[in-house]
Amino acid sequence: EETINKISAGEVVERPASVVKELVENSIDAGSTSITVEIKKGGKKYIRVTDNGIGIEKNDINIAFLRHSTSKINKAEDLDNITSLGFRGEALSSISAVSQLQLITKTTNSVVGNQVMVMGGKIVENKEVGCPQGTTIIVKNLFYNTPARKKFLKSDSVESSYISDIVNKLALGNPNISFKFIKNNKLIMKTPGNNNRISTIYSIFGKEFANSLFKLDYIGENLKIQGFISKPSYTRGNRNHQYFYINGRIVKSDFLTKTIEKIYKPLIPNNRFPAIILYIDIPPREIDVNVHPTKIEIRFKNKKTLDNVLTSIVEELINKENLIPEVDI
Ligand code: ADP
Ligand code: MG
Repeated sequence: EETINKISAGEVVERPASVVKELVENSIDAGSTSITVEIKKGGKKYIRVTDNGIGIEKNDINIAFLRHSTSKINKAEDLDNITSLGFRGEALSSISAVSQLQLITKTTNSVVGNQVMVMGGKIVENKEVGCPQGTTIIVKNLFYNTPARKKFLKSDSVESSYISDIVNKLALGNPNISFKFIKNNKLIMKTPGNNNRISTIYSIFGKEFANSLFKLDYIGENLKIQGFISKPSYTRGNRNHQYFYINGRIVKSDFLTKTIEKIYKPLIPNNRFPAIILYIDIPPREIDVNVHPTKIEIRFKNKKTLDNVLTSIVEELINKENLIPEVDI
């Protein structure tokens, strides 16, 4: 069982940034309005995620660390209608199998909180503590018991940049949540949590970037496409600022990238790329998120419609470039 957990951990937990992603997604699923991510030494030594969500009941704590245990899916049919970010019940068991993990949690109804220490997947301490409502998870010494995996990690600064990127992505996808990112004791990023997408973009990437964008806003019957794309006069030298959210979930999609880039192609120089921050809401039955353990790739069941709609709204925007006022901050 321990070996199985260590092996399966590799699928979910590739590096510190994957730990941060899984922990923050749990915080989002818990209904948090405030999430703090703190890291030290590229997350290799220390990762802390603190939220003000629903917390975990005392009796559910042990269960949360079991493999394939999730509180988010009850029936098999639920798998076809996934609305939570997590659903596999693999993250906490995987992370705790390859680290020294501390969990502190309290629900609203409970007077006291609980603190649990887990070492290499085994709960070694469990006691009551005073703490605010919500959950803090501290992950120390990731891969301390899997040296081969540890060796494969990059430098602290590279691992930090992966983490910063994932925190930015999660913050962009959840403008209703106030995110803080603390790196080596310094506050690096903070979003307002005011449910305003452009002020969230502004707080992460700055004013110049926010001002270089067109606003997209399409609401169809079973499809909502909103977000921001570069004005053709403000394209970038790489694809680092292309973000796609399907029903709030960060995804990678070559299909979406290509659909949009083909419209820019005739208008911009070679090797320039639009920034894209796109939020698509689509009925869960229209997509398949169950492609990869980290849930980052997505399949659309009806590409044609999406392609048509997206192409026509982006073309319309771009053709009217000079008529569109700048986005209000
Ligand atoms: P999944 O997210 O797929 O359900 P995880 O292993 O990530 O599986 O988490 C296991 C369970 O632990 C979750 O289903 C949830 O009940 C609980 N949990 C984990 N993190 C939190 C959190 N920050 N707040 C509340 N509950 C949490
Ligand atoms: Mg999860």
